[in-house]
Amino acid sequence: MSIKLINNAAMPIVGLGTWRVSPGQLAEALKVAIATGYRHIDGAYVYQNEGEVGAALCAMIKEGVVTREDLFIVSKLWCTFHEKFKVKAACQKTLNDLKLDYLDLYLMHLPMGVKEVGDELFPLDDNKKALPSNTDFLDTWEGMEELVDLKMVKAIGVSNFNHEQIEAILNKPGLKHKPANNQIECHPYLTQEKLIDYCHSKGISVTAYSPLGSPDRPFAPAGEPTLLEDLRIKAIADKYKKTTAQVLIRFHVQRNVIVIPKSATPQRIKENFQVFDFELSEDDMAILTSFNRNWRFFPLPLWTNHKDYPFHAEY
Ligand code: NDP
Repeated sequence: MSIKLINNAAMPIVGLGTWRVSPGQLAEALKVAIATGYRHIDGAYVYQNEGEVGAALCAMIKEGVVTREDLFIVSKLWCTFHEKFKVKAACQKTLNDLKLDYLDLYLMHLPMGVKEVGDELFPLDDNKKALPSNTDFLDTWEGMEELVDLKMVKAIGVSNFNHEQIEAILNKPGLKHKPANNQIECHPYLTQEKLIDYCHSKGISVTAYSPLGSPDRPFAPAGEPTLLEDLRIKAIADKYKKTTAQVLIRFHVQRNVIVIPKSATPQRIKENFQVFDFELSEDDMAILTSFNRNWRFFPLPLWTNHKDYPFHAEY
């Protein structure tokens, strides 16, 4: 099952997240994923594992397990490369690491640019806050548009943008390519109705990240609510003889939202794809939606002072 993008490409509705899949786990995880039926792989420069993703995909393409055309590969421009003149080289580095000559979708990872300080991915100021650059994401967008014209990427999009920031791109004088996708945090504790409705009304697809609540992310605060252990969601899953993870993933499929659960565990990679053989009732969808508490597992506390911090806006 897939979602049609504004460039008419079909984006598979369930993809594999690759953040924190360690280099040693990637080959096996991707092998299992492709054998299971995944064709959409979500990555990013900042995950620092694109070389291993590329090696694994390249080996499978060479062996004839899958063709490049069958795959839908997503990567993201990191915030230290927001100056317009840096965008092409950043994308080329990702293509080189992935051993590909084009990406299916390239996203601006965040609307916020930060200064490039050596190889630092998260340069900080003296107050231990993200060190902003004075870039404007509208200029960065122009750099991304060039990648489409150069055929380095088939489509471009954004991630962690609020609707005002998307509106600014859509209203940009001389806009050449509209965003095809906004990748945002989304799950029953952060249901994002308004932002999803806004994006869909503009023909922009939405991808849900951290659909399982990202339990293994670094610095998770003690005592935070955990989706996978929520007994109310478990009760719904039991009714359908499915797992809590499968219900959390199916929730997005039924809202026409693309979803990218991460797992490095073969059994879970398979489990997370078995979501096309059941349907949550309207009532259960409404119950899951009612769990919204505007809870972000990624509030980006180091970035709150940035002029383009996206989460001050209501949506
Ligand atoms: P997820 O919500 O996908 O959770 C991943 C965690 O859930 C891992 O600990 C994994 O363990 C565990 N898990 C996976 N499947 C199951 C299962 N069936 N049962 C129980 N536990 C399970 O977190 P992420 O934050 O990784 O989000 C997914 C992807 O979204 C990322 O990998 C990345 O590609 C993207 N992302 C994008 C962001 C952005 O700013 N655009 C921000 C954050 C994520 P294990 O691996 O050990 O199996």
